Amino acid sequence: MRPRTPFNAWSLIRGGLSRQRLWQPQWRKAEPKKSYDVVIIGGGGHGLATAYYLAARHGLRNVAVLEKGWIGGGNTGRNTTVIRSNYFYPESAAFYDYALTQYEQLSRELDYNIMFSRRGMWVLAHDPHQRDRMRHSANAMRLNGVDSEFHDAGGVYAAIPGLNPDPRHRIWGGLLQPRGGTARHDAVAWAYARAADAHGIDIIEQCEVTGFELVGGRVAGVKTSRGMIGCGKVGVAVAGHSSDIARLAGLTLPIQSYALQAFVTEPVKPCLDTVVMSPATGAYVSQTDKGELVLGAGLDLYLSYAQRGNLPWMERAAQGLVDLFPQFSRLRFLRQWAGICDVTRDSSPIIDESAVAGLHFSCGWGTGGFKAIPAGGVCLAHHLAAGERHPLAAFASFERFATGRLVDEAGAAGIAH
Ligand SMILES: Cc1cc2nc3c(=O)[nH]c(=O)nc-3n(C[C@H](O)[C@H](O)[C@H](O)COP(=O)(O)OP(=O)(O)OC[C@H]3O[C@@H](n4cnc5c(N)ncnc54)[C@H](O)[C@@H]3O)c2cc1C
Repeated sequence: MRPRTPFNAWSLIRGGLSRQRLWQPQWRKAEPKKSYDVVIIGGGGHGLATAYYLAARHGLRNVAVLEKGWIGGGNTGRNTTVIRSNYFYPESAAFYDYALTQYEQLSRELDYNIMFSRRGMWVLAHDPHQRDRMRHSANAMRLNGVDSEFHDAGGVYAAIPGLNPDPRHRIWGGLLQPRGGTARHDAVAWAYARAADAHGIDIIEQCEVTGFELVGGRVAGVKTSRGMIGCGKVGVAVAGHSSDIARLAGLTLPIQSYALQAFVTEPVKPCLDTVVMSPATGAYVSQTDKGELVLGAGLDLYLSYAQRGNLPWMERAAQGLVDLFPQFSRLRFLRQWAGICDVTRDSSPIIDESAVAGLHFSCGWGTGGFKAIPAGGVCLAHHLAAGERHPLAAFASFERFATGRLVDEAGAAGIAH
């Protein structure tokens, strides 16, 4: 392990007394070596977590993470930070709940404050049909061991201050996951990067993968903007660009890429202490520690790699917000952006080795992969190191698209973030 200054009260005081000269960079600016045991493509949460778990759980340190831009600059740094595990099917419930339990102790494990805030998450029902489905879902989730409570409209209004008593989309009830919440997205990327670096892993930014070296149907190296790098295995975690990378190896993935947008308002005093999602209006909202409202909406269902926002979705998100909380109508938007999401037919992920031996993918995270980062990292690292799928990721196979054994969370849990 490379020595690093721990984060604690004493080091903060020493840092202050040294005029902040005590602090080292959180990770080295590594130069690419000729070859590695494992190369991870993509310095988002999934790639960095995989690198960390390869070292921390499997003792593999001759590993590089190649990132074409800066780490966390993809969807990991663009998402609305909602973390929850209220999924319908047992396979996904087990997977996402494992991720949530890891998030609950991640700050301690990585010695980095990821600002995990267990503030609960509400999904609102806006008609009797949704309410009945929600009751059913709450029971199924509880059977899966996931904390989940159905509340009637009175319970929802008692728990969420400021909710419009007379919205255009009437509120019939709500599903609460008390353990759900948010975490600071950049901090998750930085925490894994710092911990991976401490284990000796090379994090190489500004290094774009442009091709593969394949020998006898096996991956033997990656071509990059900084030259050829040999490797034994490759883990690809590039979210919306998964199909691009797959094409470089002659593969086609069951993935479609869409832009998903988010919005932030000017900051106000603390007024919303939970996450509220309203599938009928398409909007969801939470408040950051700085006071800004973070607002999201649905996928722009137009296949695109254009990583920018647009006015129709801004209007839709604003309409939803103002219907739920009319008092926010005078807030100004400060920023709007988009990320490119990798969506599978069943809204479940893929963590599996591809038809090219040694070339693994972690993709299909769609609009909800931030909450999965610890579990995705553990499972991909396990597969790369042990040569077999992690039991938690048994459902996340390529095979299911051939056999039809889909885990259709799009239909069941109505996946949104
Ligand atoms: C607006 C928005 C809101 C969202 N809200 C939520 C939410 O509230 N909760 C939730 O759970 N999820 C949410 N998500 C989804 C979540 O952000 C993603 O599923 C998750 O961050 C994916 O992480 P990743 O590490 O796989 O990908 P990324 O973080 O996108 O990282 C992939 C990296 O690969 C790099 N890369 C791409 N091509 C190459 C190449 N050729 N060579 C080298 N590097 C390359 C990119 O630069 C990028 O940094 C949201 C997404 C968006 C866009």
